[in-house]
Amino acid sequence: MTAFQRVVVLGSTGSIGVSTLDVIARHPERMAVYALSAHSRMERLAEQALASRAAVVVVPDAEARRRFIEAWPSGQATPEIRVGGQALADTAADPQCDSVMAAIVGAAGLPAALAAARAGKRVLLANKEALVAAGSLFMQAIRDNGAELLPIDSEHNAIFQCLPHQGRAVAPSSPARGVRRLLLTASGGPFRGRDLEDLHEVTPAEACAHPNWSMGRKISVDSATMLNKGLEVIEAHWLFAMPADRIEVVVHPQSVVHSMVEYDDGSVLAQLGQPDMRTPIAYGLGFPDRLESGVGPLDLTRLGRLDFEKPDLSRFPCLAHSFAALRAGQGACVALNAANEVAVEAFLDGRLAYTWIPRVIEAALEWQARQASVTLSSLDDVLALDAESRAFAGNLGLA
Ligand code: NAD
Ligand code: MG
Repeated sequence: MTAFQRVVVLGSTGSIGVSTLDVIARHPERMAVYALSAHSRMERLAEQALASRAAVVVVPDAEARRRFIEAWPSGQATPEIRVGGQALADTAADPQCDSVMAAIVGAAGLPAALAAARAGKRVLLANKEALVAAGSLFMQAIRDNGAELLPIDSEHNAIFQCLPHQGRAVAPSSPARGVRRLLLTASGGPFRGRDLEDLHEVTPAEACAHPNWSMGRKISVDSATMLNKGLEVIEAHWLFAMPADRIEVVVHPQSVVHSMVEYDDGSVLAQLGQPDMRTPIAYGLGFPDRLESGVGPLDLTRLGRLDFEKPDLSRFPCLAHSFAALRAGQGACVALNAANEVAVEAFLDGRLAYTWIPRVIEAALEWQARQASVTLSSLDDVLALDAESRAFAGNLGLA
C-alpha cells in the first residue's frame, strides 16, 4: 500500500489508540486519520479529533454525543458525530477509509473488526478477543473479501515479520511452508517470581503494574494471569493457520525478543526491539515499507543478557485452560474469553479475588462442554454464546 492512506482508529482513546495516533502524526505525507471512536472519555476524544482533524467520530450513545459537543471548542467546525454500535461497524466499512486499526478492548470490538474485514479493508488487528471469539468467521471474511490482515499484537507482529511474504498481507489457510513451530514469548508479568500463597491478596494496582509494557487495565490483568498469552496462542492458531501442538510459549522476562519462528532446517528467526507498541503499529501502517515510529534503538550491550524459561503452569493455570479451549473448539474459546472478561472486570472492581479468575474460567469451560454442541457460523451465533457465557460467569455469584 503506497497510495495515501485514510485510517479509522477504533478505540482511539486507549493505549493502542494513542500510540497509533502518534505514529500517524509522524507521516502526514502518507496517511491521515479519517475517523476515531471511543467509549467513555469524550474530552480525550475531542482533543484527539481536533489534533488529528478527524472527519468523523463515533460515540456510543446520545449522552456521550452531548459530552463530546460540550468538550468541543467553540468556533471550530465539529466533525461528523455518529452514534451507536451499527455506526461503529458502518464506519469500519466506510468507503472513505483504507485502513482500520481495531483497538477496542474485548469481544465488544468484534462486530466492527468483522465489518472492516467484510469491506475488504487493510485491518490492523490489536483486538485479539475478536479473533479468539470468532477466528474462523473472521479469517474467512478476510479471505473472501480480499482484505489485508496485519497483526498488531507484538508477538504476532514479530512472527509475521519472521515469515516469508510477497508484499501483501494475505490470510493463510495452511501453515507457511518449512515452518516447524511458532515460539511465543511471554514476560511472565508482575507475579512471575511471587510466592503462590501471596497471590490471593494481590490488588488491581499490583496486577496492572506490568514490568515492561504500559497497557490498558484489562490486558494488564490478562498479562498477570497469563491468560493474555493463552489468548495469543489461540490468536496465533488463527492468524498463521497453525495447530496448537506447534505453538510453544517461552517465558522471556526482558520482553526484547517479541517472538520467533522455527523452520524445518533448524533455523530460528526472531524479531527484537524495545517493548513499545509503536513498532508493530508502524509496521502495520507502513507494510511493506518500514516507517519511523518514534522508537529508539535497542542497546543489547547495555541489556547484557536475555533469559528464557518454561512457563510454570501451576502459577499460571489460565495458560493451560487456553490450550484446552483451543483443542476443544470455537465454543470453548468464546466461553473462555467471555468468562475472563467478566472475571477481570469483577477483579478490577474489587468484587473478585485474583486467584478466582482462573476458577471462573474453568467453571465456564466445564459448563460449555456440557452444552449441546453449537455451530458458530454467523456473528449472531458468536454473540449469543458470548452473552450466555457472560450470564453463566456472572451467575456464579462471583461477579
Ligand atoms: P484500553 O483499555 O487502553 O483501550 C480500549 C479502547 O476501547 C478505548 O478507546 C475505549 O474507549 C474503547 N472501548 C472500551 N470498551 C468499548 C466498548 N464496549 N465499545 C466500544 N469501544 C470500547 O485497551 P488497550 O490496552 O489499548 O487494548 C486494546 C486492544 O488491543 C485489546 O484487545 C488488547 O488485548 C490489545 N492489545 C493491546 C496491547 C497494548 O500494549 N496495550 C498490546 C497488544 C494487544
Ligand atoms: Mg501481546
